[in-house]
Amino acid sequence: MKGKIVILGAGESGTGAAILAKAKGFDVFVSDASAIKPSYREMLDSRGIRWEEGRHTEEEILKAAEVVKSPGIPDTVPIIKKLEEKGIPVISEIELAGRYTDAKMICITGSNGKTTTTLLTYHILKAAGLDVGLAGNVGNSLALQVAESPHACYVIELSSFQLDNMYDFKADIAVLLNITPDHLDRYGYDIQNYIDAKFRIIRNQTKEDAFIFWNDDPVIRRELSRRDPAATLYPFAESWKEGVKGYVNDRLFIIESTNGIYTMEQDLLALTGTHNLYNSLASGIAAKLVDIQDEKIRASLSDFSGVEHRLEKVARVRGVDYINDSKATNVNSCWYALESIHTKIILILGGLDKGNDYTEIEEAVREKVRALIFLGVDNSRLHAFFDGKAKRIEEAGSMEEAVTKSYKLAEKGDTVLLSPCCASFDLFNNYEHRGELFKTCVLHL
Ligand code: ADP
Repeated sequence: MKGKIVILGAGESGTGAAILAKAKGFDVFVSDASAIKPSYREMLDSRGIRWEEGRHTEEEILKAAEVVKSPGIPDTVPIIKKLEEKGIPVISEIELAGRYTDAKMICITGSNGKTTTTLLTYHILKAAGLDVGLAGNVGNSLALQVAESPHACYVIELSSFQLDNMYDFKADIAVLLNITPDHLDRYGYDIQNYIDAKFRIIRNQTKEDAFIFWNDDPVIRRELSRRDPAATLYPFAESWKEGVKGYVNDRLFIIESTNGIYTMEQDLLALTGTHNLYNSLASGIAAKLVDIQDEKIRASLSDFSGVEHRLEKVARVRGVDYINDSKATNVNSCWYALESIHTKIILILGGLDKGNDYTEIEEAVREKVRALIFLGVDNSRLHAFFDGKAKRIEEAGSMEEAVTKSYKLAEKGDTVLLSPCCASFDLFNNYEHRGELFKTCVLHL
């Protein structure tokens, strides 16, 4: 038996990590401070892996040679502090999995657009017949797949929390979509810590690897001027500029790579809106770099069905479009949603406000929004910002009320947009629940 590995947190990533560590012959112990879902308990039991729930037993945990921490656990919890004091290394599930595979790794991070770009890239590769797995924040745990159903290539969505505990892992293709303030509560309220976490995506890369990023992101640009990435750079932007490898020119979507120049009509892209153009460019570059045939990339970029709760078209009712963007849990993603709509808008927003600054959407609200509907338990911060700035403001205590009010306020040709800027936990279980309820209420109109 090899040394002891302790896994903290038994969700998708922790359970996967435990199964991989066990398969590699380690003495494995899983500890979760909350209750473990029955499905994960069964997965652990069926492989003879010891676990505890509702506590962290220190004597057991501090005997570990190495600890795998789930991304949801902050560094500030006492058990992590104790591990630090004892000098016991803490790694992420992705780091562990990376040790046991030489598959090609396409890793995607950013403040917004990760899931969309990850699923789009996966869609292109899968439809082209590649042996590809989907992992990270979406799909099954990477470690579980490496242990029990390995693939030749993985498309992995990485949050900053997963990147935090990655050290020797290397992305063959790294994608950094954008950086805007988020999760600052986990980064000591210092944005630089968050930026540094995001930039771990290019750690250990060499010239043979690729770094795909949004050329016009001010934060990324500033960082690049003082870091010197070893990888080959593939910046993308809305239009051509010196050095840019993915762009649009005269409504032609263009990608320049060592595998040739790819073009398609921009109008054929399945995903609309400027933010989705960026996501399509990033996915297209990645697909080109793994040498997918142009016609296959074209087919997939134009038939992708989109991702639920992200600018998802729900229905048209009496000439009014209803769009579910429940996943927009920060102001920046709401800005992109407003930008992608060219009609008057009834905007439903609100929820748990993580200290938002709404200045970014002020102009769009003045120009495009017919009415705001605040949907939250405490709407005081929204009122403080928008009172006197929006043409009309209404409040709603439930999704049903919000949808009914929006129905009454909307005029033919308008769009009703749920793009909350906030987390959902005050009134809903999660953003999916919020989006589902919105869709149900719209379909009942
Ligand atoms: P993530 O996984 O990073 O949270 P998603 O793909 O789930 O990103 O999209 C979250 C929200 O961000 C959506 O509401 C969408 O409208 C918006 N969004 C998507 N792509 C981008 C982008 N490239 N830049 C800014 N906002 C985006």
